[in-house]
Amino acid sequence: MYQFEYHKPSSLADSIELFNKLEFPKYLAGGMTLIPAMKQKLSSPTDLIDLQNIDELKGINKSKDNTIIVGAFSSHNEIANSLLIKNNIKGLSYLASKIADNAVRNSGTIGGSICNADPAADYPAALLSLEATINTNNRSIPAKDFFIDMFETKLESHEIVTSITFPIKSKSFYLKFSSQASKYAIVGMFACIVNDQLSVSVTGAANKVFHLEEVNNLSLNKALTYDYDKINLEKMNINSDIHASSKYRVSLIKNMLPKLIENIF
Ligand SMILES: Cc1cc2nc3c(=O)[nH]c(=O)nc-3n(C[C@H](O)[C@H](O)[C@H](O)COP(=O)(O)OP(=O)(O)OC[C@H]3O[C@@H](n4cnc5c(N)ncnc54)[C@H](O)[C@@H]3O)c2cc1C
Repeated sequence: MYQFEYHKPSSLADSIELFNKLEFPKYLAGGMTLIPAMKQKLSSPTDLIDLQNIDELKGINKSKDNTIIVGAFSSHNEIANSLLIKNNIKGLSYLASKIADNAVRNSGTIGGSICNADPAADYPAALLSLEATINTNNRSIPAKDFFIDMFETKLESHEIVTSITFPIKSKSFYLKFSSQASKYAIVGMFACIVNDQLSVSVTGAANKVFHLEEVNNLSLNKALTYDYDKINLEKMNINSDIHASSKYRVSLIKNMLPKLIENIF
């Protein structure tokens, strides 16, 4: 590991001020992705700004307008075990419980995961399907605009994600076919019901998460009897890599859909 400076500010304002003064800083959350990337010299920040002492990034709360606000520093295990999330968006707590292993779930955070924008990460499917909003130190970004491409988001380099706002959805589910080694999604699908209509998003299959337009907006009755085999995924540029060919991923999406939808209820 090469030399870098470590900082641990205790407020959002101090973190941003520090970031703007330094040469090539990076924010540090759980370090589950950033530290291995530094060890492999895939990322070489001059300074790490640790976000763990910043209270504004913590907590899981229900707001007056019936949304759940999840602090960016919430770990995967906090999300998996939160009764508030289990009782209001059960698919999200289930998704968090299926990330990696217990050690990663204890340290890795939702903020770190979505800022990293790994195309095989699980949360993006939930954020898109649930129509969540990503809140930063200076704005709010709808999930549909946040994920731009592989490892690329709408964030400015100094910007800090403070929380994610999730609308409450009593019916939701997440299903993934994962890498046996890492548990990252080869295909992961999140479904929920919005105004009596289906909303399905897919992660792991392409460079970024996408909405499954052909089945979105189906009524529940139609969704249960739909012929998923006829879905056309050609426009979605489904990836081939060492884990699966694009043909295999397409077949996973079509074959997992009935089980995903049955489990929403
Ligand atoms: C063995 C292993 C298996 C894994 N399996 C899975 C899996 O099955 N599914 C899955 O989804 N993920 C998986 N992950 C990734 C894991 O979920 C990480 O927790 C996540 O990618 C990064 O979160 P972190 O809190 O550790 O972020 P860090 O590594 O600390 O940071 C990641 C990036 O986000 C930036 N950042 C962090 N927080 C903020 C913020 N609040 N505002 C702005 N920028 C910020 C950092 O600067 C950095 O660029 C796995 C990781 C490992 C090591």
